[in-house]
Amino acid sequence: MLSPSRGPERLVRAGQWAIAVLFAWFLIQVGASLIADLPLLSRAPQAAQFRPVVALQAVQNRLEPLQEQVRRLQEQLEALNRRREVVQETLRRERQSFETWRATRAATAQSDQNPEVLQRARQLDARLEQDRLLAEDQRQLEQRQQQLQGRLAPLRRQQAELERRGEQAYARALRRHEWIAFLIRLGFVLPVLALALHLFRRRRGGEQWPFVWGFLLFSLYAFFVELVPYLPSFGAYIRYGIGALLTYLGGRALMRWLRAYLRRKQSEQQAPQQDRLQQIRYERALQTLARRQCPSCERFLCSGEAPMPDFCMHCGLRIQTHCRVCDHHQPVFYPYCSACGAASELHTSQPDAAAGEDAPSAALG
Ligand SMILES: [Zn+2]
Ligand SMILES: [Zn+2]
Repeated sequence: MLSPSRGPERLVRAGQWAIAVLFAWFLIQVGASLIADLPLLSRAPQAAQFRPVVALQAVQNRLEPLQEQVRRLQEQLEALNRRREVVQETLRRERQSFETWRATRAATAQSDQNPEVLQRARQLDARLEQDRLLAEDQRQLEQRQQQLQGRLAPLRRQQAELERRGEQAYARALRRHEWIAFLIRLGFVLPVLALALHLFRRRRGGEQWPFVWGFLLFSLYAFFVELVPYLPSFGAYIRYGIGALLTYLGGRALMRWLRAYLRRKQSEQQAPQQDRLQQIRYERALQTLARRQCPSCERFLCSGEAPMPDFCMHCGLRIQTHCRVCDHHQPVFYPYCSACGAASELHTSQPDAAAGEDAPSAALG
């Protein structure tokens, strides 16, 4: 029975939305390039910048000769070990040979070989003495190595401490950089957001509404894409704290708007019938009536194909009326009678009725 929106007006509205989206897109590109070019945002601190290079080099210069000494001692120790192994192996073989020889001699009871016994025993003693001396050398080398390690330990601790301080300085610089980057973004996004909200509250109904909506879309993009991901990432409480604050502010604004909306609706319903009818936009009236809802209180009027009531049973708004010329029964919002074409009472009493044929388009925007 009622078409919710007419062809040409739908086209105009689509065009206006296209302008809004295109406007937002270009603004987003400009904003993104602008932010990317801000000098402080593109230069992050590097870890290498914060290593105390000079102090570390000084420690390294003291460490290196000591490490070289340790290395040489180690080599000496290894050579010594190899020599001891050879000596011990020889000793073992000589001792075995001596035992065999002595056993043979006891069996044959040759007593004239005493000088040879003594000589071989002396030889074994000398071999043992050689091993003892090598063991002594080894002990001394190990002692020196331990002393050197004792001198190396504080230097190594100093080195680790210097590295640790460098890392701490880097972490601090990184945090500071994150904060500065965030504050710069905030300084950019906050005025944009404030201006967008201001425009939206004051100008969204005007002729320039596609630009207002475009700017609002741009500011929302800037907020969610250029600002929120750059909330300083350290300490989850900061991120969630800011989130909670924003939710609080946004939620408060939304609740205030909802209360104002409710008050507006209530005052609308208390206004005189003619004023109420004139406040309802033509397009909106057609849409709500097509859904079989009251254009003012938005409650259901009737179901299915049942005839539309003359008045809203919930808020008392006039819904249907009779043509004053031919008495045809039709919705009060129609600007012309569908039977005789006479301009409706509501239509002729509207201030912009003089616009004649263009009158319905005044309801746009
Ligand atoms: Zn109603
Ligand atoms: Zn008529």
